[in-house]
Amino acid sequence: MKSILSYLDQVRENDLYRETIEYEPIDSTHVMVNGQACLMMASNNYLGLTHHEQVKQASIDAIITYGTGSGGARLTTGTHPLYKLLEEGMASFKGTEAAVVFNTGYMANVGTITALAGKNDVIFSDQLNHASIIDACRMSKASTVVYQHNNMEHLKECLAGTNCTGRRLIVTDGVFSMDGDIAPLDEIVELAEQYEAMVMVDDAHALGVIGLGGRGTVSYFGIEGRVAVQMGTLSKSLGSEGGYVAGSAKLIDYLKNKARSFIFSTALSPATIAAAYAALEVLRNHPDLISRLVDNTCYFNTKLIEGGWKVGKGITPILPIVVGKSSAANHLALELKSAGLIISVIRPPTVPIGTSRLRITVSAAHNKLELAEAAKKINIAGRNLGLL
Ligand SMILES: *Cc1c(COP(=O)(O)O)cnc(C)c1O
Repeated sequence: MKSILSYLDQVRENDLYRETIEYEPIDSTHVMVNGQACLMMASNNYLGLTHHEQVKQASIDAIITYGTGSGGARLTTGTHPLYKLLEEGMASFKGTEAAVVFNTGYMANVGTITALAGKNDVIFSDQLNHASIIDACRMSKASTVVYQHNNMEHLKECLAGTNCTGRRLIVTDGVFSMDGDIAPLDEIVELAEQYEAMVMVDDAHALGVIGLGGRGTVSYFGIEGRVAVQMGTLSKSLGSEGGYVAGSAKLIDYLKNKARSFIFSTALSPATIAAAYAALEVLRNHPDLISRLVDNTCYFNTKLIEGGWKVGKGITPILPIVVGKSSAANHLALELKSAGLIISVIRPPTVPIGTSRLRITVSAAHNKLELAEAAKKINIAGRNLGLL
């Protein structure tokens, strides 16, 4: 008990205390907090599809038709008819032979990586990969070589310098979740082919964001057919829940037989799968959503740069403002919250020590006027706190 309390004291002292905060959604870009309507700029709901009429209605219809819970795991009784629609739809959207849905993106990574890499295998993992990839590597019993973020010289050195009797698996985020930059997947594929490694990309923040019509990182680089494992989520731009892996029919069949997080967990509810499928259909029929997202991102990024902030290239809707100290990041977010703006504070261990930041996300559903006002608030708060 003592160590539990001292852990909590320690995280509080270091400005790293975390707690769940209740936001009451109003629509896809606004939430109610303590009676105040706030603009949401912290969600991964990049296309605003959580509140799309077609998506909501599909989910309601699914409950009416099939009930609430799925009642069992996928391999026993949990595979309701909507799964087939979604998995075939996803494979066709991604241009792969097959796809399989997991209950979360986290479980997709854990299940897939532990199925593909074991004792005699080596995983090459980008330093800034998502925690679910890091945990999967640890669970896999493979040896893991962490290469410097997006550093292809270093990845090459690691590949050349590592003896391996089994499989080599290179795994990377497509769009990095906390920095919003894109992995050089074309170069990773070149190296993988040279060193006979398998490539896995995590498109959690790339699906519905980059590539032709939002098809993700492989499409962005035009390297179709050269990435064996394309993982992604249904929980971000698709506004639902779940994860998926798209790839060859053989790979998908293998995962269904081997991935423990697929086998030993109750299938997602009809409502969840129906929402994801409807969102995928909306995305497929409205590539203009992607151009609106890009337009909003450029607009907002420019406003921040004009305000004097150092932000990234602003290619993706994840715009980090790195302020350094956790306390400074906390203060800035609190000040913005009282001004009616919800932005996430990201601190260690999610990001390296000394790089605490505000992680701003732009949505296709934001309008220019509210984006302009939000940027003004961020600029004023930055000046007030001496960060600009
Ligand atoms: C969010 C995220 C996941 C996990 O997906 P969930 O559906 O939230 O479990 C995996 N990888 C990356 C890069 C993510 O950002």
